[in-house]
Amino acid sequence: WGAEPPPQEGSMAVVLRVRPPNPRERAAPSVLHVLNQRAVLFASEEPGGTGTGPGRRRRNLEFEFDHVFGERATQEEVFQHTTLPLLDTLLAGYNCSVFAYGASGVGKTHTMMGSKSTPGIVHLATVELYKRLEAMKDRSCEVLVSYQQVYKERVYDLLKPQGPLNIWEQPGKGVVAQGLSLHQPTTPEQLLGLLAKGNKNRAQRSTKANAASSRSHAIFQIQVKHWDLTGGDPHVAKLSFIDLAGSERAWDTPGRGEGMWEGTSINRSLLAFKSVVRALAGAKGGQCHVPFRDSKLTLLLKDSLVGSFRSTVIAAVSPAAPAGPDTYSTLRFASRARHI
Ligand code: ADP
Ligand code: MG
Repeated sequence: WGAEPPPQEGSMAVVLRVRPPNPRERAAPSVLHVLNQRAVLFASEEPGGTGTGPGRRRRNLEFEFDHVFGERATQEEVFQHTTLPLLDTLLAGYNCSVFAYGASGVGKTHTMMGSKSTPGIVHLATVELYKRLEAMKDRSCEVLVSYQQVYKERVYDLLKPQGPLNIWEQPGKGVVAQGLSLHQPTTPEQLLGLLAKGNKNRAQRSTKANAASSRSHAIFQIQVKHWDLTGGDPHVAKLSFIDLAGSERAWDTPGRGEGMWEGTSINRSLLAFKSVVRALAGAKGGQCHVPFRDSKLTLLLKDSLVGSFRSTVIAAVSPAAPAGPDTYSTLRFASRARHI
């Protein structure tokens, strides 16, 4: 424990995952071309106000990432390059996190959770984590799990249905959600059972509240608690998986007030997340204001975004032309986040 040197403070890796076109997109041209394992070309021509000819805006831009996963990339490949290295960091005693960022329908939940036949990175990480814990049986470790959802700037426990939780910052302990249930799975099956239960609660909430899953942020956290031989307080390190709300700009707001409020509050957590990432990217070396307090999401994740940590953002996109504007904005944000 702690045998490894701390990971470079503030290091953030950003990878891109391009999903295959869905049946509705199959007839549409592609605007995204994977050039190699680190770069893509975004090439589109879009109406620029006046219609045809010189009025059309053409974009032909290259974006670089720490890794690019093309349409045929498997869940296992994504796991190997994004999450597997974080397990070393976690077991060395440091917080780390994986964010899935992108518009609705681009594969964020698929990447995180996957399906029975193609389990996602949380499942694959769980299996590997228990393998490693098994291999170091001599150490005294405990695994704790929680699953939260931030929806309309309120925090809910996905493993223990109850009202919204109050959150506050405790000196020395970081930000805590009061009453959040912590579970102690002792096998990978138990842990995955908790994940499935939370996902089911998330889905149920969504049907009740107008596909809220695309507008909510889900935070699944695995804590490893470790006691050393001195008998002191345990050391705790967290691995967080965050399935972010859809980043699309145009909210198809059904009805009036309710939809508006959803749009603005989602924007608050997502905008705050983006500001924090940008601030951290710019803060290299110097000090600058990092707006953690601007939203529930960034407050809850503060201890995973500062200090000795390692974060990975998986930006997900569709290659098809109709999704072009969202793809472009994801590429721009994600490629800049990389400079942290
Ligand atoms: P999001 O969570 O970003 O809104 P989803 O993960 O729910 O999007 O993906 C939308 C649909 O596309 C789902 O049916 C999912 O199974 C499918 N999908 C997403 N990514 C892939 C992929 N890489 N390969 C195959 N199907 C995918
Ligand atoms: Mg989703």
